[in-house]
Amino acid sequence: MELSNRQEQIIEIVKENGPITGESIAEKLSLTRATLRPDLAILTMAGFLDARPRVGYFYTGKTGSELLTEKLKKFKVHEYQSIPIVVEEDVSVYDAIITMFLEDVGTLFVVKEGSLLVGVLSRKDLLRASIGNQDLNSIPVHIIMTRMPNISVCRKDDLLLDAAQQLIEKQIDGLPIVKDVEEGLEVTGRITKTNITKALVELARDEHL
Ligand code: ADP
Repeated sequence: MELSNRQEQIIEIVKENGPITGESIAEKLSLTRATLRPDLAILTMAGFLDARPRVGYFYTGKTGSELLTEKLKKFKVHEYQSIPIVVEEDVSVYDAIITMFLEDVGTLFVVKEGSLLVGVLSRKDLLRASIGNQDLNSIPVHIIMTRMPNISVCRKDDLLLDAAQQLIEKQIDGLPIVKDVEEGLEVTGRITKTNITKALVELARDEHL
């Protein structure tokens, strides 16, 4: 986060004099309390300063990168999820390939009864099945998919960072977001490397400060 000169000055004043009231900070800068209000709000929201009622502002001692890390650690999977693209387990490899192209995704989730997770299909799964195979219309995807219980999943309130860790450890591109239901796991979302990259870019561009 880029701080303005005035915001830097405020931080210095609070560092040396905190806890200090907004009124006193304004006095030291020869400005009015009203002029300072937006800067104090930004510095407090961003976590550089903390405000205690009837005490004043004090410096939290946290650096910009510590504050970014703290925010990153709070991101939840559902805040960055995409819509899951699913196919039923008896559709053909051919149709799954068409779906992957039309929906512009790299991973399909295989379901039964509309939303119950039974497997995953990646680009390479479909390529592998296609090599030297003439009749892709006659092979159902459940023959070639990675199947339950070997599917890595996450739940909507999981931390984005934990999902990212799973992607790295399992060397995969995405995870289905699931909800536990009586019959098994219902697919409700999708989290991929792209979602995680977006979260990082947003964070770096201060949209969370
Ligand atoms: P690609 O095969 O296009 O490189 P991935 O790296 O995501 O894509 O997939 C590698 C293998 O892992 C594939 O066989 C795929 O079926 C499987 N896979 C993908 N996602 C998952 C997941 N969430 N859980 C278990 N296996 C998965």
